[in-house]
Amino acid sequence: MGVALPELQYTPLEEIPARVSNAQQSFLEHKTRDVEFRLLQLRKLYWAIKDNGEELVQALAKDLNKPRFEAENFEVEWVLNDIVFTSKNLYKWMEEEKPADIDFSFKFMNPKIRKDPLGCVLVIGAYNFPVQLLLGPVIGAIAAGNTVVIKPSESASYTAAVLQKIIEAGLDSSCYTVVQGGIPETQALLAERWDKIFFTGSANVGRIIAKAAAPNLTPVVLELGGINPAIISKNADPRLVARRLLWAKAVNAGQLCTSQNYLLVEKSIVPQVVQEFKNAYNEFYPNGAKNSTDFSHIINDGHFQRLKGMLDNTKGKILMGGTMDEKTRFIDITMVQVDSVEDSMCNQESFGPFITILPVENLDEAIRVANGVQSTPLGVYPFGSKAETEKIIASTRSGGVAVNDASLHIPTLQFGGVGESGNGAYRGRASFDVWVHRRTVTTSPSWVERFLAIRYPPYAGKLEKF
Ligand code: NAD
Repeated sequence: MGVALPELQYTPLEEIPARVSNAQQSFLEHKTRDVEFRLLQLRKLYWAIKDNGEELVQALAKDLNKPRFEAENFEVEWVLNDIVFTSKNLYKWMEEEKPADIDFSFKFMNPKIRKDPLGCVLVIGAYNFPVQLLLGPVIGAIAAGNTVVIKPSESASYTAAVLQKIIEAGLDSSCYTVVQGGIPETQALLAERWDKIFFTGSANVGRIIAKAAAPNLTPVVLELGGINPAIISKNADPRLVARRLLWAKAVNAGQLCTSQNYLLVEKSIVPQVVQEFKNAYNEFYPNGAKNSTDFSHIINDGHFQRLKGMLDNTKGKILMGGTMDEKTRFIDITMVQVDSVEDSMCNQESFGPFITILPVENLDEAIRVANGVQSTPLGVYPFGSKAETEKIIASTRSGGVAVNDASLHIPTLQFGGVGESGNGAYRGRASFDVWVHRRTVTTSPSWVERFLAIRYPPYAGKLEKF
């Protein structure tokens, strides 16, 4: 049954500085330092999400035609579990650390490392998983004791409006506030002073964020895109390869930063792999993806046209799919075999339902090609024997690796890119660590003065006593 969804209203530009300064002021009043306050906020956020879970599912369906299964599992339940995990572990994560590797002579200074909040921080979300990619970092920022300004993706507009409703219903408005909008509003936010910016989105906008942060030396976490290779050895099981990699492209219609962008397949098994993709497609979508309620559509006309352009311009051969519907922004899962890495299907992030296959002679060639396309993607996905997959891991770099799989990420395991795919990591404990300053504290008791006196001038005769 449909529910009435709120409409997205952009925040007036002139209101943005006041909202930011309100959150900054609340931090300076130490409101969010108290751990019980943080836990209460997390609990209230949990119930606000629970109360509005159905609205989120329906908003995601409107924005992306996101299937209920994916909306519940990868968005709503995901963030609820994240809140529970964070709340359960918060006291443990906050504990002061006693450094073990300290010279005996400094032990009397009671050295310890506190986990202090950074201050007032900004979280900017992406459209593809607009709930978990926005609230994931926010949950960590709240747990760590920061005040937070939250900017949802305007592209997933229905979801953005429901998220605002949830945040305003659940969280203390003096500490946590939403700013809605597109480029002008985000730029107005970037003109403010932040204690950290957490950005999820494209590499091009990531550069804009890093540049805007530089004048204030604001640290940034960049969770960017990936031109991720899957590398398939002749010893891999073609059926397993096809089922797992089809899934990674079917989820959210390939609008998934961790899905494989292209497959480097040893020549001898290309025909079997191609056939198994066709079998898997027929199994997953017996009436075609277009007629399935289990397949998302492309977020907007701009991305639809971009993907259509990629397919129009490829020199590769379409082996499966290829149909699209502009009106509903549906693009079928489309398999293309290319013969050059120069084809844009390979060396541009498609962020859509394309399965691009580039045959290679052997694994050495695959590794060489993968390192040439993008030397530091978000993920590398090797399929083959243990020795082969280990060789691939040891010869490449990436944010993460899923052996014999793609896009798999354990929700509580730290996640982040490297180089061009970003920097900084979150999820699980890392979501707390990324938002705190590890502050070293020593306390010199007055009784040690007689030892410390050695450091004072005049130095004559003291060097040999050290
Ligand atoms: P995007 O970069 O277009 O937008 C992300 C955010 O930046 C939005 O909130 C948007 O309002 C803002 N923005 C856009 N242009 C801006 C500008 N000129 N100045 C200031 N702010 C601006 O990204 P997207 O289209 O929402 O998401 C797709 C990209 O994100 C893909 O590249 C994908 O790989 C990447 N991504 C990465 C991860 C990750 O965790 N590493 C997760 C999801 C998506």
